[in-house]
Amino acid sequence: MILKNFINGQALDNGTGKTFDVINPATGELAYQVEEADESIRFAAIESSQLGFEIWSSMSGLERNRILLKAVSILRERNDELAKIEVIDTGKPFQEASVVDVVTGADSIEYFAALAVSIEGSQQDLGGDFYYTRREPLGICAGIGAWNYPLQIACWKAAPALASGNSMIFKPSEETPHGAVKLAEIFIEAGVPVGVFNVVHGAAEVGAWLTGHSDIAKVSFTGEVGTGKKVMAAAASNLKDVTMELGGKSPLIIFNDADLDDAVSAAMLANFYTQGEICTNGTRVFVQNEIYPKFIELLKQRTEKNIIAGDPMNPVTNFGALISENHKNLVLGYIEKGNQEGAFLLSGGKELSPEGVEAGFFVAPTIFTNCTDDMTIVKEEIFGPVMSVLTFDDEAEVIKRANDTEFGLAAGVFTQDIRRAHRVVHQMEAGICWINAYGASPSEMPVGGYKLSGIGRENGSSTINQYTQIKSVYVGMKPLESPF
Ligand code: NAD
Repeated sequence: MILKNFINGQALDNGTGKTFDVINPATGELAYQVEEADESIRFAAIESSQLGFEIWSSMSGLERNRILLKAVSILRERNDELAKIEVIDTGKPFQEASVVDVVTGADSIEYFAALAVSIEGSQQDLGGDFYYTRREPLGICAGIGAWNYPLQIACWKAAPALASGNSMIFKPSEETPHGAVKLAEIFIEAGVPVGVFNVVHGAAEVGAWLTGHSDIAKVSFTGEVGTGKKVMAAAASNLKDVTMELGGKSPLIIFNDADLDDAVSAAMLANFYTQGEICTNGTRVFVQNEIYPKFIELLKQRTEKNIIAGDPMNPVTNFGALISENHKNLVLGYIEKGNQEGAFLLSGGKELSPEGVEAGFFVAPTIFTNCTDDMTIVKEEIFGPVMSVLTFDDEAEVIKRANDTEFGLAAGVFTQDIRRAHRVVHQMEAGICWINAYGASPSEMPVGGYKLSGIGRENGSSTINQYTQIKSVYVGMKPLESPF
């Protein structure tokens, strides 16, 4: 298969014939090839998005709502087919993709479709004269996605952008470009006018073209902090608005009075779900001293017994392959660093070759104990299945240590003490906090980072404000006074 750029309602051939490969991480084999967005595609994308914007932004919120809801039903009808595409691209288990990726993408579009009808301005009397405000869309928005939740990221960016009346040019990660094209096809089928959601393919160079383009009003980016900085610098060329969903090294704090089973479940979810390739992962697991021995005993036991690595398409597999050989080597490099720097390898720590998918990029769920705050594995985002367990004595100490990072994406607290739970999360320097839960991210809840983990939010009603701008209209009702 050759996947093409999706422009103005259809797959469009590029002029150069230049393609790149997408590898199935579970098999290490070529999955398909992708045509890169060359000059002709880029030109067509901008032209089409401008026309799409004119049509879409002149529709009422209710019209946009009806069309987007149709897209939501198609997404749900095709759940398994789309989930399989995500499995081939990412290596994650079908068991997960079939209940999370498409579902949460569709939820976000449904949520913002509902908000489309309530976008409104205000009006204030000024003693005869008055002014009113209009909340208007921004224009063409660029979406740039990471590879861990490709379809979900495309949906989370398209949902508020389109509900607000913008058009979007989306560039999926070059490692996982299929889902975004499927979404574009579904939008067309649902009745979204052509040009409202275009998809361009390529790596950094195509991303940089988008972020530097003067006809683009906003960039919503998901990826690494380092890339985010480049995107923001490029966006400054014409003062584009930016949303940045970046990396993290989030703390998960477990107090002595926590429900032990729940705390162990949370630590496993926060490190091993999607093979650890989740931005909000709670990779620094702080466990209070008294509960620590029981906690690590149960953690080791459940990790070694309940995690089933294997062919991601097999419905019993609950732990898949890492995105690429490069990424696998990066994760193995961190494991080596953990060993060298004196952490104790409690479990995993090696490559896996599950039966039938021996050439896939698998790394065992890995737990390090005896970790200290200054170790590389405790400081840097690994984006793989590597958990660092640390111990602590008291609340004040753990708050200080949990915040001692340049990231600020998420934090979790497990305790039965309701006051302590709120007291602690109120002091966390993190945009997303969970109490006696981890990882849940419903469309209603805004998500995004503090510090180097991001700018702006996705999901939640306030996100509409990031995809619209206010126009104030002053209306003179009296003869105009003038000194001239
Ligand atoms: P990445 O930064 O390497 O790439 C992200 C996207 O940016 C890709 O589409 C890539 O092609 C594009 N890109 C690369 N260089 C660019 C440039 N100079 N200009 C414009 N675009 C450019 O990230 P990744 O490896 O795909 O994803 C993993 C990272 O994403 C992790 O750090 C993870 O924490 C983060 N992430 C964050 C969230 C969140 O919501 N906060 C969600 C998922 C992933």
